[in-house]
Amino acid sequence: MTVKTRLAPSPTWFVHIWSLRLALYDYLFAKKNNWIYALRVEDTDQTRLVDEAFWNMVKVFEEVWIVPDEWPAPYADLWNWPYIQSERLDLYRPFIDKLIEEWNAYYCFCSSERLEALRNQQTELKLPTKYDWLCRDIPLAEAKIRIEAWERYTVRLKVPKWEKIVFEDLVRGRVEFSSSDIDDQVLLKSDWFPTYHWAVVVDDFLMKVTHVFRWVEWLSSMPKQILVAKYLWIELPKYAHLPLIVDINRKKLSKRSWDVAVEEYLKKWYLKEALLNFILFLWWNPKTTEEIFSVPEMIEKFDIKDVHKADAVFDIEKLNWMNSKYIIKTDINELFEKLDKYLAEYENDFHKDVFSKFDKQYNMKILKELQTKIKKFDEYKDLTWFLYNDANIRLDLLLSEKMWIDSLDFAKKSLKLSLDILNSRDAFTQDELKEIFIEKIKENWLKNGQVLWPTRVALSWEEFSIGAFELIGVLGIEKSRQRIGKILEQI
Ligand code: GLU
Repeated sequence: MTVKTRLAPSPTWFVHIWSLRLALYDYLFAKKNNWIYALRVEDTDQTRLVDEAFWNMVKVFEEVWIVPDEWPAPYADLWNWPYIQSERLDLYRPFIDKLIEEWNAYYCFCSSERLEALRNQQTELKLPTKYDWLCRDIPLAEAKIRIEAWERYTVRLKVPKWEKIVFEDLVRGRVEFSSSDIDDQVLLKSDWFPTYHWAVVVDDFLMKVTHVFRWVEWLSSMPKQILVAKYLWIELPKYAHLPLIVDINRKKLSKRSWDVAVEEYLKKWYLKEALLNFILFLWWNPKTTEEIFSVPEMIEKFDIKDVHKADAVFDIEKLNWMNSKYIIKTDINELFEKLDKYLAEYENDFHKDVFSKFDKQYNMKILKELQTKIKKFDEYKDLTWFLYNDANIRLDLLLSEKMWIDSLDFAKKSLKLSLDILNSRDAFTQDELKEIFIEKIKENWLKNGQVLWPTRVALSWEEFSIGAFELIGVLGIEKSRQRIGKILEQI
């Protein structure tokens, strides 16, 4: 038997972090054994579709390398393709006809007004909202006459009154339902589109899907799908219903907010490897102390048995941490290329007017200093603007209680000392620079911070920045002298 997983997103908006997680698990589970991972588009709810969503989804999955073996579209000539539900309507028809002919589904002629009134009434009486079976016993011949007379209809599943429905979930184990809690689900809508519950069973069957990873929220749809499959004599795939993602306050992550769009994470330039690792570890425990895997390592180590049952907490700080680890690990030339591409795409003005006006060597020097400090690329501009521009000097920043600098006169003396050191030679290595500074500071009976703080401020005009020695390294001796000189003139 060939094992096959599938992802079946509805292209309604952006690619949700949830979908990336499902896609990753589908992909790892399939690749682990050279199996197949397919992508299907579930667009039966035509009112919620967003035009660009499909191509956007394709782009995102390609960008993060979670590339399906079977795509929805390019195989349109084969009988079982495309994997786009709205283009498969003819494929579903024989299956619903079988259900109707064998009395396992029935035509329902109730208007939406009647159904709404029924729902309201049940809600008022605090009863479960369910269809009241009004059309369940209409003889088939009579129903067909009404259809020929153009009456609008839907088709509903005939759920047995009392039946225990049991199945074995790959993550949750045995799960039991009672059919008496289940509504007579609409399978065919009045616009002749199938509902999810019916289409999903038929599609997974026709696509020969063997394993499905999906949200625990779909668990309640299991009994309906089990009944449909039973009536059609179809064997269902194995299911793993995965826990939700919650925020750090344990609230379910919103479905609509951009905070959960994979596109946004790629834009902020989280590295893809970091994003995938973060997603992987949300619910999965590799039982090792290693925290960062390459994709081939993920494939090798992934085992569905290690997936947690509990909800996963989406902690952005952890993602930031992983990203910083990846940035440190990345070869500097590769990192430079990524940064350049990121800035050109997402910080276009800065890239055009600032970054690319400086030579590569200078930009590279800055990146080398930042490689161990930056968590993600969208911090780059703010952390470095003073290395590209001269700004208004803020004298107040020179003072610091913590560093024991209580007057501008004091700061001035410290800055003169720094300038003298910088004027004493034409070039320094980083080590020499440190050594000479420390020696001179000692000779003058000062503390390191009393000299290095105002020097750092004079070079960066910032409250926070990389250290004084690193700044001199990036700016070079000449520019450093100029900046310190300029501030001395103003005190
Ligand atoms: N279209 C459903 C979704 O977007 C798929 C559910 C399933 O995997 O069966 O969540």
